[in-house]
Amino acid sequence: LNTPLSLLKGVGPARARALWEAGLSTVEDLLLHLPHRYEDRREVRPVTEAAAGVSATFRGRLSGLRRIRTRRRGFSLVRGVLRDGTGAIPVVWFNQPYLADQALEGGDYLLHGTAREAKVGLELLNPTCEPAERALHSARIAPVYPAVSGARGLGPASLRRFLDAALESVDLSQVEEILPRDVLDRHGLPAWGDALLALHRPESRPEAAGLPDVEALNRRRSPAHGRLIYGELLEMQLALALLRLRETAAPRTVHYQVDDRLRGIVRRVLPFRLTAAQKRALKEIVDDLRGPHPMLRLLQGDVGSGKTIVAALALVVAMESGHQGAFMAPTELLAEQHFASLRRLLGERYRLGLFTGTSAEPGLRERLASGEIQLAVGTHALIQEGVEFQRLALAVVDEQHRFGVRQRSLLRGKRGRGEQPDMLVMTATPIPRTLALTAWGDLEVSTIDELPPGRTPVATEVLPAKERAEVYQRVRGELEAGGRVYVVVPLIEESGRLAAASLKEAEERLRSELAGWPCATLHGKMPAPERERVMQGFASGEVRVLIATTVIEVGVDVPEATCMVIESAERFGLAQLHQLRGRVGRGPRPSRCFALHGRLSEEGEKRLAVFASTQDGFRIAEEDLKIRGPGDVLGTRQAGLPRFRVARLIEDWDWLERARDDAREVLPKLTEPEMEPLLRRVAENEVWNRERMEGG
Ligand code: ADP
Ligand code: MG
Repeated sequence: LNTPLSLLKGVGPARARALWEAGLSTVEDLLLHLPHRYEDRREVRPVTEAAAGVSATFRGRLSGLRRIRTRRRGFSLVRGVLRDGTGAIPVVWFNQPYLADQALEGGDYLLHGTAREAKVGLELLNPTCEPAERALHSARIAPVYPAVSGARGLGPASLRRFLDAALESVDLSQVEEILPRDVLDRHGLPAWGDALLALHRPESRPEAAGLPDVEALNRRRSPAHGRLIYGELLEMQLALALLRLRETAAPRTVHYQVDDRLRGIVRRVLPFRLTAAQKRALKEIVDDLRGPHPMLRLLQGDVGSGKTIVAALALVVAMESGHQGAFMAPTELLAEQHFASLRRLLGERYRLGLFTGTSAEPGLRERLASGEIQLAVGTHALIQEGVEFQRLALAVVDEQHRFGVRQRSLLRGKRGRGEQPDMLVMTATPIPRTLALTAWGDLEVSTIDELPPGRTPVATEVLPAKERAEVYQRVRGELEAGGRVYVVVPLIEESGRLAAASLKEAEERLRSELAGWPCATLHGKMPAPERERVMQGFASGEVRVLIATTVIEVGVDVPEATCMVIESAERFGLAQLHQLRGRVGRGPRPSRCFALHGRLSEEGEKRLAVFASTQDGFRIAEEDLKIRGPGDVLGTRQAGLPRFRVARLIEDWDWLERARDDAREVLPKLTEPEMEPLLRRVAENEVWNRERMEGG
């Protein structure tokens, strides 16, 4: 299976290179290059039944083979006649001069191709041609392989030949099956080697019913497909289950007191009533905190669903029990915001500290190490070397999809002595069920699927840029009615200077539109004190228009802001647009969002149409997934999404669920020798395992 393809009969160096460029370097790789469809070519027709435009297989003897001279350089023609018992049909081949040279005359041949109407009547155009006793392309259910692009000669017919050579070079019945027999039987699956044979030579392994089911093969629903799909998904789910085991098998070392006194404090801290979904999430978290192992839980909920308060209450549980907590956010702006609001909420009872790259309050680290600071809020600065907690008990990670697994594990390491703190990770990127299983298969999940009361939907309009003047007229209306406005401009934040310059430019442009209204600009590379001043100005209402980059995408919370203009909206992804819009519609007043766009690609148009039509984060995520595919939605590296060879996350949802259940319930019950080959395989699977385990 590990034989390089260059050693395979009939391949040769040039083609081996083409295959290698397409990611196929060994016999195993080639065997996993599966047909994307199957053509039933079993029926052989008499030549008198040839019809224009219909592809069919014929069998007979060739005669009159000759090369025709043409004027066009690099173009050749071979003509001949195919005769069977019923009649004869002319045959023509383009650019296959060797066919004239071969001693084909008189032999028994199978030709498969499409007839066309020519001047002299019907003729067969460019058929495959092969000896009847060794047919590969015809008189069978012919696999059609996705062409390997780039080089010449790697169309379906060549691939059929290479695969035939590959199948001849290994004895698939001797290949080790890594899945236990029971597991295969339970799902009605063939062994790996048999599955490959069935996929490349469907007729060689008649299934129970007798004949291969071409329709099932074409829908990727044959048992053989099932074996490969399930196998890949099971390996992934098993790796996730092992990761989960490794992360949570440790016994709990942190203990919390949950009693009436605590409940009283929580009631006093709470500025509002929790929604039912928030209560449920909080209960799941508190149950975990009292469980036998460290918590590892994902709290997911759409933008504005109120995750922060749930995390804050969990932190209260920790601090009331005399422990330390951490709250990590992906941007300085967001960390500062959280610090400000957590201080408002908890500052009277507890001592908080802000840890960011730019905040350098003297003595802060010492106060954290001594245990004086009870809650550390910050960015990546929290996981730097030299930042030490006295006893970290509960770590919260906000917008977890912005962090790698490695960062999560560094934060976990901050408890020290090999002990594990409880972890709560949060995300506002609502992940479709499918992806949740894949990317977060190792986490327990709580979902807040309800918005706090009194929210009004954000009226969203998508408009071409030429209607800017009217849009800003309506923005002025909002301002006159007392509203506050975000204007978002797209720009890659390469450097602080660049960001500042183009925001300045945007401000100049807007000055005439918004004359007289106090504006301020905000970007991520601004010095922290300045950024804080701007945010405070906007939160207090002193600043009425905030012109910002996408720094405001995550977490910013100013409920009085009721209007947003997104400039050049075509440059943002769907999920990002949804996050941005989540900054408005946070208070009781109705909000609106204008997305101004320039020229749209087809995809861009689709994206903006979805954006305007719904505010349901889950629907947006599903649509995004359809438009972009799973890797892009989560960011393959960060989410640790594996690249599969055969499985497809969305289509193969049913197999994914079975694999997840088996990884969690069935496999742990197997004996060690039964599990060993599978575990070895999981450990060897470099494609994604390393990134997943060690962080990307
Ligand atoms: P997200 O889930 O996007 O992080 P936040 O935690 O920032 O959302 O909450 C959004 C806003 O909703 C905040 O202003 C918060 O104070 C408010 N909020 C959260 N829960 C409730 C609730 N149960 N009732 C009223 N307002 C709430
Ligand atoms: Mg948030």
